[in-house]
Amino acid sequence: MPVPLLDLNRQNSQLHAELMAACERVLRSGHFIQGAEVEAFEADCARFLGVKHAVAVSSGTDAILVALMALDIGPGDEVICPSFTFFATAGCVARVGATPVFADVDRRTFNLDATDVARRITPRTKALIPVHLFGQTADMDALLPLARAHRLAVIEDSAQALGARHGQSFAGTLGDCGTYSFFPSKNLGGFGDGGLVATNRDDLAERIRLLRTHGAKPKYYHAVVGGNFRLDALQCALLRVKLPRLPAYCAARQSHAASYHLALGALPGVATGTDCETRPDTRLVLPVASPGRTHIWNQFTLRVPGAGRRDALRQHLAQAGIGTEIYYPLPLHRQQCFAHLPSVSLPVSELLAGEVMSVPVFPELSPSEHQSVVETIAAFLSR
Ligand SMILES: *Cc1c(COP(=O)(O)O)cnc(C)c1O
Repeated sequence: MPVPLLDLNRQNSQLHAELMAACERVLRSGHFIQGAEVEAFEADCARFLGVKHAVAVSSGTDAILVALMALDIGPGDEVICPSFTFFATAGCVARVGATPVFADVDRRTFNLDATDVARRITPRTKALIPVHLFGQTADMDALLPLARAHRLAVIEDSAQALGARHGQSFAGTLGDCGTYSFFPSKNLGGFGDGGLVATNRDDLAERIRLLRTHGAKPKYYHAVVGGNFRLDALQCALLRVKLPRLPAYCAARQSHAASYHLALGALPGVATGTDCETRPDTRLVLPVASPGRTHIWNQFTLRVPGAGRRDALRQHLAQAGIGTEIYYPLPLHRQQCFAHLPSVSLPVSELLAGEVMSVPVFPELSPSEHQSVVETIAAFLSR
């Protein structure tokens, strides 16, 4: 049975009437930039996250960019981020003229390795960008004290983790600010590009709001250079329809992940975590949900050890019509655009790039589709 990696229509079609009503409301209002819809969405997000300020912006990328600008990070500054992440995390650091410094990640969680971060701190280090990759928070219990000790700002790239919790707190509410994305494939998927910055710092929120509209205050008077980082009123109205459903979407993903763990975990040669992953007979490693965290499974990412094995499994699944993707095939420290930076060896990031593969885990995945993914993987492992 063919299974798509993601099917947006299944989710959005259930909300068709409400989404159309939101569209209609904005069209009739004639008000498309900032205003009541944007403010209402920001208030909804702040309430959901339990933060003082939520600022809607044009994308998850622009959320990181404007956060760096608001923190006055620029030429001469170093910002530590993982190498195993989506490009935007480090791209924004380079765009403000600062230097991205890549740290390695933990092979079980795919997230920043705090010990490796500590080794890379210099007098020029100004900030840390932990990424909560695939829907689970990074090791904030180690990273936050490290940042505090060295007076580093912390921007949590929570693009894949809106709704994930670290203890009682939501991802993105632990550091100086958290950035989120409403790209359609994220857990709260919008209808185009969109993003958000959350913060409890009054000064940061005020500066981000200023930078969002060219640093203008009042209109046409510019004390600082900002940009156009606004999120459309239409997008906010549509996202307001989906935000209340986010917990249910995350719960559905959690249920699919639990079923994968049960079904795949029972197969010979399948390991979870580190216990037996170095054994020569390990053929598949399942992703781990760390204790004390709420993983929201933006991606369910397998590791397939052995030369060529990952690509062989991908091809096997593709032949059955099952969608997969590699997040991410080339670590950022190896990207051509960063070739001028001092070369570093980040063995875990490099290992993961060669082994990872994400399988369908979207909320509306049906039981028979889920079973088809499991059976197709089982057939590959047994051959
Ligand atoms: C999606 C994503 C972004 C960028 O978000 P956009 O809305 O696509 O600009 C940044 N960081 C991570 C980790 C992401 O997954």
